[in-house]
Order: sequence, then C-alpha cells, then structure tokens
Amino acid sequence: MIWVKWVKGCLSSARASVLLNGSATKEFSLSKGVRQGDPLSPFLFIIAMEGLNVAVKSACQKSLFYGIKIPKDGPSISYLFYADDAIFVGDWSSTNFCNIARILRCFWKPIHHLAKKSLTGVWSEISQVVNILESEGINFNSVFGVKIMAGSNTLFWLEDWEGGGSFDSRFPSLSILDKKKSCFVSERILPNEFKWAWKRNPSSDQELADINSLSGLISNVVTSHGLDRWISLLSGDGVFHVRELRCLLDSKITSPMVNPTVWFHIPPLKVICFVWRACIDRIPTVMALSKRGVRVGTNSCHLCSSGVDDTDHLFTGCSFAGDIWKWLCHWCDIPFRSFNNVSSLVEFAANWGHCPKKKRIFLVIVYGFLWCIWKARNEKVFRSTCANAPKVVDNILALVFDWVKHKGKFNNCNWYVWVCNPFDIL
Ligand SMILES: [Zn+2]
Repeated sequence: MIWVKWVKGCLSSARASVLLNGSATKEFSLSKGVRQGDPLSPFLFIIAMEGLNVAVKSACQKSLFYGIKIPKDGPSISYLFYADDAIFVGDWSSTNFCNIARILRCFWKPIHHLAKKSLTGVWSEISQVVNILESEGINFNSVFGVKIMAGSNTLFWLEDWEGGGSFDSRFPSLSILDKKKSCFVSERILPNEFKWAWKRNPSSDQELADINSLSGLISNVVTSHGLDRWISLLSGDGVFHVRELRCLLDSKITSPMVNPTVWFHIPPLKVICFVWRACIDRIPTVMALSKRGVRVGTNSCHLCSSGVDDTDHLFTGCSFAGDIWKWLCHWCDIPFRSFNNVSSLVEFAANWGHCPKKKRIFLVIVYGFLWCIWKARNEKVFRSTCANAPKVVDNILALVFDWVKHKGKFNNCNWYVWVCNPFDIL
C-alpha cells in the first residue's frame, strides 16, 4: 500500500507547463493522466499490462485463444505489447474473438477507474468538430431528431425528442414534480390521454402555465408500434445523407464560389489544383505569406518589379504576364482584353465561344498560361533565372500541345498546324 501511495504522490505532486511560442507558461498541476515523457508512464503501463499479459498467456495455454504459429518450429505469436500499444494476433475465428473480448472486458473493468475518463481518440475529434460547428452557428443536434414510434425507448424528460431541448431543461419546475423523472415517453403519452404522475399536483401559476405549454407541444404526438429511432431532419425521408449535411455546411461556412472550378482531364491534376487555388487566392505569393506572418524578403513582383507579388498582380496586372497574354490572344485570334483577377480570367475562358472543342482548347491554353507564369516566377525567385517572355510563350505552346496531344483526343495534332493557330487542329 505504501508503494501505491508513493506512486500517487509522484503523480499528484507533478506540475507541468506548456511551451507557447518558445516560452514556458505558468506551471499548473495535473488532474488526469501523466506528463508527456513522464518516466513513471512506462512503469505504470507495464504494471497495468502485466495483468493482461498473464490473462492472455494463460488463455493461450488453456487453448482458449489461438495465436499465429511461425513456421519451421518458430514461436507462436498471440499478442504484442509495445509502449502504449497492444496488438492481438490470432486465428480468424469467432471463438477466438469472443474469448479475447471476454479477457478485455475483465481487464477493463478494474482499470477503467484509473484510465482517463475524458473522451479520447476519434470521439474527442468528433466532439471538437461539433463544438467548432456550434461556434459557426450550426447546431449539430438540430440536424437529427427522434421519430417516436411506441415511445418505449425514449426518456420523456431527459431526452431532446421533440426538438428545442429536453423537457427537463425547458420545464424544470414540472420535471422535478414527476415521481419518475427517468420515465419513458410511452409512460406519459397514452393513445388518448396524458398520464401524469406528480409528487403533488402542479399548483403555482408558473407550473400551470408550464403544463399548458407542455400539453400543447405534445398534443400531436401519436404513439404506434416499434422502437423509436433517430432520423435526419435534413431529408424528407428521414434517411441521413452525407451530401445534405455537406450542403448545409457549405451554405453556412464556405464562402460561395462565384464560378465553380472546371475539372477536366486534359491538363494534369496538379495544374487544375493550382488554378483552383489561384482562383481563391491560396497560392504562396510573398503577400499571401506575409499575411500569415512569414517574411520572405522583398514583396515587389519578381517578373516586372513594378507591382507587388500577389495573385491578382502576378497573373492579370503584371506587364510581363500581360505581354504574354497579349501574344496568346493574338495566336488564338481573339480580341485582347484584360482582367482584374484570376477567377474572372478563368470564368471568361470557361464561357468563351460556342464550339465545345474550341472552348476546351482555349481553357487548356489559359491553364497553361497560368501554370507557366507561376513557373517563370518561381524560377526567378528560387534560381534567379532571368524571366524571358518569348521563352515562356514557347513553354506554353509546347506544354499545352503536349497535354492536348496526349489527353485531348484531337485528330490533327500537328505541331506546325498548332503553332499557326491552335484551333486548326480540330
Ligand atoms: Zn509584375
């Protein structure tokens, strides 16, 4: 016992602090678990796991659990314990599974008081997401409701089955009067009447008003047969579809995209993703990085030196990119026009022209243009290679030709035809 007290003393006297931006916060004492890297942790693990070790070993000896036999007279492996992990290895059989479940149940019961009582693993993440949603104004609970059938497995006061919170939280003065607060819906709502069981009859004005509102709320509830079940309130049929929840989240959290991303197979996926990110201003330009507190030298444009290195300037405001765009318009034989941002350029390209094939080629050219400007900018930034407009134009022509030839399925993919006018390959 004295030894247990020692361990308890070590744990309860431990204090910890958190490194925040490199400096330690005030010390605080721990009420749960052990500190990261606490030397006591492996000993406690071994002590707890020793019990499990003995149980599994004896189950193996008594042929209640079959491990995997290593060939050529090798050992039989049934479990591996390492650091804070436990892995059971065994025959794929229901007896094996039932027996290991029994052992774990016996093991868990005595130690679950010691274990952290807080949520861990995936549930803690789920509960965090629910909290985040709540802070964004989405009440996750309001997405689901209870469909009362017989009312025999839903608690009348304690569960939120009618929507708007449990009756216990909405009518506390009444719930406290009920002889059985943990009663089921079926015990209070009968086919033609309500069956109350008060400790004393509601008499105060508040209680009488409450009973009126409560009766109003449940007057339309009709019980039938079968178990009550959870349903999704987002769909008409009560079946939960991820798509509907996704739409709800999009409508509340995601800012609506003016023009949806064009997903097509001719340019490589990385280019499509890049254009999508450029459209929503999510590429690592100097300005974008400095907004996030990352300082990376000068913020002036690397291609023309007269603007700033941000997404809008780089692709639509920069004179270097502008010259290339002018040349591309000339090549495609379309009137030159300028844009204020990447998304309006992509939107223009996606809606340009009437012929679907021509439209597709033009869009690929715009994707190639954006990609090659970004590459030229990066070459300048990281390799100090001087940006050369004719070279970038050559790159765009060659790269887009390559994409169109290999993925586009156009009949007349001839380089000489292509360089004269891209639409002549149709
Ligand atoms: Zn520029």
